[in-house]
Amino acid sequence: MKLLCAGPTSIDKRVMDAMGQFLTNPDLDPEYTKFHRNVEKKISKLLKTEATSFLMLGEAIMGLEGAVCSLMERGERVLVLHNGYFGKGFSDYVERYGGKAVELKFDYRRGIDLKKLNEFLDKDSDFSIATFVHCETPSGITNSIKEIAGALNKRGILTIVDSVSAIGGEEINFDEDKVDILIGGSQKCLSAPVGLTTITISQRAKEKIAKRKTKVSSYYLNFENYYNYTYDSFDFPYTMNENLVYALNMALDILFEKDSINLHKKYAESTRKTIEKAGLKLYPLDSHSNTVTAVLSPEGIDAREITRKMREHGMIISGSIQDIEDKVFRIGHMGNNINKENFIELFQKLDIVFEELGVKLKTSLKDQFEKEINK
Ligand SMILES: *Cc1c(COP(=O)(O)O)cnc(C)c1O
Repeated sequence: MKLLCAGPTSIDKRVMDAMGQFLTNPDLDPEYTKFHRNVEKKISKLLKTEATSFLMLGEAIMGLEGAVCSLMERGERVLVLHNGYFGKGFSDYVERYGGKAVELKFDYRRGIDLKKLNEFLDKDSDFSIATFVHCETPSGITNSIKEIAGALNKRGILTIVDSVSAIGGEEINFDEDKVDILIGGSQKCLSAPVGLTTITISQRAKEKIAKRKTKVSSYYLNFENYYNYTYDSFDFPYTMNENLVYALNMALDILFEKDSINLHKKYAESTRKTIEKAGLKLYPLDSHSNTVTAVLSPEGIDAREITRKMREHGMIISGSIQDIEDKVFRIGHMGNNINKENFIELFQKLDIVFEELGVKLKTSLKDQFEKEINK
């Protein structure tokens, strides 16, 4: 199956080969620690910061939960900004760990509106933490970290940002953008296997954690265990999976070889133009993501039919979730999915699927994509 979905993405053979190595005992070998810290530094480099980054063994949801339970104390009010499903999901972590989630909902087809956020904050800014999502993957919308985290930072509010589907594919300036905790995942634009969460954390967030009056309600998810670990002679709170880290290391080296941000932009723009020129409609009304394109299914066609038929043609693209499950299909131009031949094949197969479904397009998607990408 060819993967052109919104993650997990396809993986370069060099990454799988690196993963297959078995070299050492990660608990007992100081050379491993050095290597591991260097991989963490590559994450910071990707975010143009000297701030601490660390890796957690687990899928990225673990990082989202860990960020909330490490930074927040029981009873605290947390501002949950949401213009999509992952954004709203933060309320669940907040409430489970005894916080009070105050939701501010935005249009689910647009980026978070800075004006509306500021108007809200003028009335109520009594929060020490706010959460939001960088790229809302199910709807293909990328929020501006710079604007939103900047506005929150001005009011002294720390930000937790879910950048799982954007890290490596969208420009991030961790320091300048004033983010406090940024969560990434290995399996989207980084194109490494599922299983690692990346965390980058500001000094401001570390200080809040250091001043906690109550203990973090989780051992495994406690961020301080990762960046301040000093128990016995061990460097990590639990045994690391060296193979996943070798894979991530190679995936990052491959990413640094390319002009990853511009490559994502180019494929995203070509995909959007192709879709629109063929007479199809994009789901987002602004703030289009450079890592995933969400397309509205034509009138009368269930989007799940499109993804099912694409699988019959050997290609996995994504559907969506909840109330847009039947209305939206998505193309992931993420990391190692980006490859001209695969994209031409994708649009060729989509041409066939639409014909099978009796949908008349204004132009062949394949021909249009070839024009756009070769501009
Ligand atoms: C993929 C993703 C996650 C991780 O969620 P899974 O459903 O476990 O893949 C978290 N946040 C965002 C925005 C994502 O795209």
